[in-house]
Formats: sequence, structure tokens, C-alpha cells
Amino acid sequence: MIPYGRQDIDERDVAAVTEVLRSEWLTQGPMVPRFEQAVAAYCGATHAVAVNSATSALHLACLALGLGPGDVLWTSPITFVASVNCARYCGADVDFVDIDPHTVNMSVVALAEKLDRAAKTGRLPNIVVPVHFAGQPCEMAAIHDLGRQYGFRIIEDASHAIGARYRNEAVGNGRFSDITVFSFHPVKIITTGEGGMALTNDARLAETMVLLRSHGITRDAAQMDHAPDGPWYYQQIALGYNYRMTDIQAALGASQIERLDEFVARRRALARRYDEHLAGLPLALLRQHPDCASAWHLYVVRLQLDQIGKSHREVFAALRDRGIGVNLHYIPVHTQPYYRRLGFKSGDFPQAERYYAEAISLPLYAGLSEDEQDEVIAAVAEAIDA
Ligand SMILES: *Cc1c(COP(=O)(O)O)cnc(C)c1O
Repeated sequence: MIPYGRQDIDERDVAAVTEVLRSEWLTQGPMVPRFEQAVAAYCGATHAVAVNSATSALHLACLALGLGPGDVLWTSPITFVASVNCARYCGADVDFVDIDPHTVNMSVVALAEKLDRAAKTGRLPNIVVPVHFAGQPCEMAAIHDLGRQYGFRIIEDASHAIGARYRNEAVGNGRFSDITVFSFHPVKIITTGEGGMALTNDARLAETMVLLRSHGITRDAAQMDHAPDGPWYYQQIALGYNYRMTDIQAALGASQIERLDEFVARRRALARRYDEHLAGLPLALLRQHPDCASAWHLYVVRLQLDQIGKSHREVFAALRDRGIGVNLHYIPVHTQPYYRRLGFKSGDFPQAERYYAEAISLPLYAGLSEDEQDEVIAAVAEAIDA
């Protein structure tokens, strides 16, 4: 089976992890700050907070921005559930903005219209989470302008998009948002096994996320309500979590980021090759916005079902039967039973639902060979009888 995504681990990664295993510190040692500095420097952000997953980073980002009961977070329905669940962890309500069918990112037109309506009913969002779907940045300048106009904060869910560029600058630099979140799950662009990171240029937001990452405990006398009792002393000053990244994970991340540009270049080349070889088939490919250079986490095609004599499900099954590990990103979050119980229903976000009825993610990862890619392309042509 050719999987839809997979990690790329080399001997340098193995050596970096082994070195930590032989060292004094498996966690809370020197590697976490080293990895944080490497990501912050790559992206051009001032602060980076490494955690045990992007899910944790999204949760901490919402907490740092003060999201709580009675508040509202908006995001795209075509995302992984974690982009939405973070608001529910904080007791906040959620809503969705339908996608632009061409890029599958949150539609800025739909966002502006929904904000206009929300302003009239007094239910404006406190936070909007643009998700850089498949690695292509959202139209951040426009979303940022709307944030200024309507007073919401912005968390970029860049789980797919480390290494992507927007207006020729690295995603994560925080020019158009308060916090940017990355995932280092093995299917993503670089990996730490499990892991995530939150980037910001705001020292107070970073300080809050650092505090909440580790139980709400501080050893900094300046944060305590009285002088330390002694050198052993710490205070718990907030209710935090154990969301720490280990040094084992951080060593892997610090080694992986050395090859980030190489990984993205390879993904981009494979995506271009797919574009060329799939052109002419009854498929719609994701449109790339001229402001954006995608990190190409996913390569998604949409079946033009009116030109194909098979159903979406049949094409998907035919590909799996041929050993092609196709996948579907994502089931619209508002149709999940948990969210239906909160009142969402089919028909609420028609572009997202139509996308779901047509989309297939083809294998794409740095280690995919051209021979394997040719096999995928041949299987797609056969599956749709083209
Ligand atoms: C993978 C992913 C997450 C969650 O990342 P984890 O590191 O697995 O917690 C969140 N949002 C999106 C869009 C993702 O793809």
C-alpha cells in the first residue's frame, strides 16, 4: 500500500534522538528551547512555545486569548476536529464559515457576510481560526482587516503549513494574527512523533502559554505573590495542564527542521507533477492563490462526478483496492454527531458538504518516488475510466 502520507526519518534524526536518550535530560532539558528557537527563527516570530500536540497548542492559544463560556470561536468546517474542539475545552460556543470551493480555505467573502449579519444580532466571534488547508495559507491580510473592523482575535491553524509562504514571508511570523499553531504529527511536514507549537510576537501571550503548559506553576519570583520560601520553591498561580514536549521529541524536531525546505521543495515538485499528469482528467484541482506558496501537506482532487460513470465511493474503493492509500480530508466538522448535538445539521455549509462528496487525497510525502507517483496516476485514470 502506498500511504497518503508518511514521515521521513534519516540517520541524523536517529542520532539526534539517541543522543538525548544517553543524556541527563529526557524532558525539560536543553532541546525544547533549542527547537523552539529554531522554529521561531525560521518563521520570523519572537516567541515559540513547544507542546505535546497541536491540539494542546490550540487549547493554550484559546486560553491565552481569554476565550471562555459565553464567547464564540469561528473556523472552517473543512478541518480536523481539533481546530474546533479547542473552543469547547474552554466552554465557548463555535460556528463555522463556509469554504471557498476553489482553495478549500475559509471563504473571505462568506466571512465578511457572516460578520455583517453577526454584528446585527450582537453575536460576533471572539476568535477566528483560519486553517491553512493542505498547506496553502488563507487570505490572511483580508482576515486581519476584518479582525480590526469587528474586534476578533486570530489563531492561524497552520498544522499543514510549516514551510509555506504568504506574500513571500514564512507562515508563522504573526504579521496577520495573534498566534500561529503548528503540528508535528508524523503525517505533517516535519515530525516529533507527537508534538505541536504555538508562535506569537506577544510576550504576554507567550508567558501565559508557557505557564499553562506546565500546571500553571512558576519558579519566577516576579510572578509570585510573596518572596520564595527557599530555593525549592514554586507557586501554582493558575490552573494549567501537562502539555510539555519531551527533549526526545524536541531533538527529533530540531533535526527535522534542518530538512524542512528540502521536504517542502520535494512536495512542491511532486504536486506540480500531479498537476501536469492529471490535467485533462475529469478532476478539479485546488486553485493556488497568487499570494501563497503552499507547503503541500495534502494533494486533493475533486471528482467531477457528472463526467465520471462511477460514484465517489466506488472511485475511492477502486483506488484502495489497487493499493493506493487514498484518504479524505475532511468530513465536515459540523456534521459530526457531537456537533449535531449542539444544533448543527446537514445543509448548513453547502460548499463544505459538496466538497466532501467529491474529494480524495492522493499520496504525497517527501519520500514518494516518481515510480510510485506514476502508479498512483495510472490507478486514478483507471478508477475513473478516463
Ligand atoms: C493534525 C491537525 C491538528 C491536530 O494536530 P495534533 O498535533 O495531532 O494534535 C489540528 N488541526 C489540523 C488542521 C490538523 O491537520
